[in-house]
This record gives sequence, C-alpha cells and structure tokens, in this order.
Amino acid sequence: MVILALCLVIFGCGSPPPEPPAFDGDRAYEYLVEQVAFGPRVPGSEPWRECREYYYRHFESLGLEVDSQSFAFFDPYSRADVPLVNVIARHRGGDEEEPAILLGAHWDTRPRTDFHSDTTRINEPIQGANDGASGVAILMELANLFAQQSPGINVDLVLFDGEDWGESGDLDYYLIGSKHFASKGIRRDYRFGIIVDMIGDKDQQIYREAFSERFYQPLNDMIWNQAAKDSILTFQDSVKHTVIDDHLPIAAAGVPTVLIIDFDYPYWHTEFDTVDKCSAEALDNVGEVLVNILWNPDVWPKKL
Ligand SMILES: [Zn+2]
Repeated sequence: MVILALCLVIFGCGSPPPEPPAFDGDRAYEYLVEQVAFGPRVPGSEPWRECREYYYRHFESLGLEVDSQSFAFFDPYSRADVPLVNVIARHRGGDEEEPAILLGAHWDTRPRTDFHSDTTRINEPIQGANDGASGVAILMELANLFAQQSPGINVDLVLFDGEDWGESGDLDYYLIGSKHFASKGIRRDYRFGIIVDMIGDKDQQIYREAFSERFYQPLNDMIWNQAAKDSILTFQDSVKHTVIDDHLPIAAAGVPTVLIIDFDYPYWHTEFDTVDKCSAEALDNVGEVLVNILWNPDVWPKKL
C-alpha cells in the first residue's frame, strides 16, 4: 500500500492517461460530400445559407455552444453589401479562465473559377470540395470526438467566411472573415491556433508552410513531430509553399497560429475541385495528428 502510494507520488505511475478517441476519416468524408451537395457556398447565396444551417444543427446536436458573427462586407466588384457569417462552435472541457485552442477552416467557396478549362466560364463558382469543405469536415468530425470523450481543454472550432472572395491579386478582399474575427481583440482568448485548408487531396503531400515556419516554428515542430510519431508519411518535413490564408490575420492579432495546407493540388480554382479528388484517408491523416495533439498537452510548445 505504502509502496503503491509512493509510486504514484514519485513516478505518477497510476492509471495511464486515457487513449484519445479514434478520428473517423470516413465520417469526415461524408461531411465533405454533404457540404458540396448544397452547391457552391458563395456568400449570400442560398446554398451558403442552407449549409450554415447544417453546421448549426451538427454542432448544436453534439452539445457545443454555437455562436456566430454576422456582418456586411462592401463588395468592390458589385458595389453592393455582401453578408458574411463566421460560425464558432465552442467545446468547454477545461477551466473557464483557461485560454482555448483555436482550430479554424474557411467554409466559403470561391465565387469564380480562375482556371476554368473554358475561359468563358471563369465567373462561375467552384465546388470547393478540397478548397473549403475539407477543412470544415475535419472540424465537424472533431466535434463528434469532443462529445464522445472530452480532451479536458477548451477548443473553439471557427469556420471563417469570405476567405476566398477576392479577384486574383486583390489581397485586400481575401481573408475577410478571419480579419473580422481577429479585430475583436482575441489575443487573451487563445493559447495557439491551427488553420486547416485544402487537406483532403487523395494524393496528399503536406509541407510546412513558410509564414508559419518563420513566425511559429515550435508549432510546426509539434505538428510534424506528431505526424512522424504517428507514421503519417504524407506530412513532408520541409518548407515548400508560402500561402496567404486565415492564419495571418489571427497571428497578426497576437495568437500564435500556423497553417496546415496541401498546396500541391492540380485542381485548385478549377472546375475539377470535386469530391472524387478527395479521400477519407487524407482527412484521417490530418485528423489523427490533430487528435493526438489536442488530447496530449505535453506536446504543446512550452513557449511561443
Ligand atoms: Zn481558394
């Protein structure tokens, strides 16, 4: 009895921490397909409205607190206001005062097909199976796991709107939802953030993104070390692309944030960004890495 008590005190060798629940890539892929089935989620459109209701139903049914930020964006192209809505689903597994982890993805899809094979059709919206739906599919599946077995921490799942609005080169008209979100004074709310975008490609290869590496290398180290530990070989441990995405406004607002993106996707901003180009396995790879990070604060960087 005494020996056991000593053992627990000195070595903490009582019961091992519970195994994290298994991320279900097949279920995540269903969420990807269901989003695309609404049609292009172009801000202000009917599919966009319906898909948002679908998110609310999903997160609410799993017991997350669902919140939203609605605002109007003055669109320089149509010279009219466009409605945008960020959706925030909160899991509160930790103490009230404890900063949360921010996991983000954009839910809007691009209103134009820059690289359409028929150049007369570049003003048609893309389906956005990978560019949009894949990241949200991961967050939706994580919500299932939170309901099943809490990681004991606070997590905000943030679905950003208006990420992909701007015409090519008009950088002011991208990342509209995340800029709005970041303008609210979020620095103390989050310990760190991870954005997932375009991670559903069947032919997955995920390199470290250059801005993330430059500003928050310890977070990239955490992610790529975890992938190596989990033997997920589609995470390539070198820096390749430099990508403007929702991690930048969040980081600029003072929350250390990195981007997980597979930017080697030949169907990017084409009419071929469809569900058949994506796979459950690709979603599973990224989901598993995130689960093993969320359920194990020991791997989080001590200092950022
Ligand atoms: Zn895009």
